[in-house]
Amino acid sequence: MRCLREKLRQANLTLQTNYTEPTVNYQQRGGTAGTAWLQHWEIRLNPVLLQENQQAFIDEVVPHELAHLLVYARFGRVAPHGKEWRWMMESVLQVPAKRTHRFAVQSVQGKTFTYLCDCQRHELTIRRHNRVLRGETEYRCRRCGKILRYDVRNSI
Ligand SMILES: [Zn+2]
Ligand SMILES: [Zn+2]
Repeated sequence: MRCLREKLRQANLTLQTNYTEPTVNYQQRGGTAGTAWLQHWEIRLNPVLLQENQQAFIDEVVPHELAHLLVYARFGRVAPHGKEWRWMMESVLQVPAKRTHRFAVQSVQGKTFTYLCDCQRHELTIRRHNRVLRGETEYRCRRCGKILRYDVRNSI
C-alpha cells in the first residue's frame, strides 16, 4: 500500500529511525475497519470496508493503525489513544488524531452515508456515495456551497 509506505517513510525521517514496513493482511472482519497487532508488527484491514471506503482508509485508517505500531516501537505499551499516539498522528504523521475508526458495515442497501459541509450533515444514498467514491462527481451543500465530505466518524 503506497500510503502506508509514504507515512512510514515520513515517520522514519522525522524520528530518525529505520522501522520496517509492517505486514498488512485483510483478515479483519465485522464492523471494525482495522486493527494493529503490536508484537506481530502487523496491520489487519477489513476488505469489505476497504472496498467501500478507500479514501477514508488512506486518509485515516491506515495512519491510525500505523501510529499504534510506531507508538509501541518507541514508547512500549502505553494508553492506546493517549498523548503519545496523538503526538504520533499529529506531529509525525500529520493526520488529525481521531480515535474512532469503526465503520458501519455498509453492504446493506437502503443505508445512507453521512457527509458534512461547513454547516450541516447530509445523508447520501449508496448510489450517490459510490459515485463520489469513484470520483465521478462531487456534491455541494446548497446552503453554504461547500463540497460534501464523507464523514467516517458518524458512519458507525
Ligand atoms: Zn486505535
Ligand atoms: Zn452547508
